[in-house]
Amino acid sequence: MPDKSTSSKANAATTTETPQVSSPPRKIYPIVKYGDPILEKPGAPVAKFNSELEELAEDMFASMYAAQGVGLAAPQIGKSMRFAVVDVTGGKNPEAKIILANPEVTHAEGEVREEEGCLSIPGFRGYVIRPQFVTVKAQNVKGEFFEIRGENMLARAFCHEIDHLNGILFLQHLGMLKRDLIKRKIKKLKKQGEW
Ligand SMILES: [Zn+2]
Repeated sequence: MPDKSTSSKANAATTTETPQVSSPPRKIYPIVKYGDPILEKPGAPVAKFNSELEELAEDMFASMYAAQGVGLAAPQIGKSMRFAVVDVTGGKNPEAKIILANPEVTHAEGEVREEEGCLSIPGFRGYVIRPQFVTVKAQNVKGEFFEIRGENMLARAFCHEIDHLNGILFLQHLGMLKRDLIKRKIKKLKKQGEW
């Protein structure tokens, strides 16, 4: 695995742990695209809450910002686990960063019909009805349970990402005609080697 952070100036035979600097360079994951079966199967529950999970969360935020998304689920980077990150400010407000391990919607209210897209289905959007308000119960990287409430775009992002963890894509919420149209176009793009 290439790692830019370790420049080998000394040919050390033993690895000595150097203290962590404030923000190590992040790994930018390529986003898995529609057609990969990992996107359509439920992720495994997160069981290990450790520094590795913390690193994964930060790498996922970096990957999400790089792709200009507002949410990213682990299956979208090829990891079939119930883990997602959300930031509807797109990185503008560090306090808006939300990490969700094993999230579940515990309460939903209202309906909003709004256009939605997905980093795994680039170039296609569709209108999806989502709750206006949701309450989500999840665990943080330390395994502690918390509840968070989301409204409008945040509620939509929570629902979209939790869908991913259940192997559901927004295409499944579209009408059959629209869904089939998008699928046909993707098939064509695949044939042309553009997907
Ligand atoms: Zn998505």
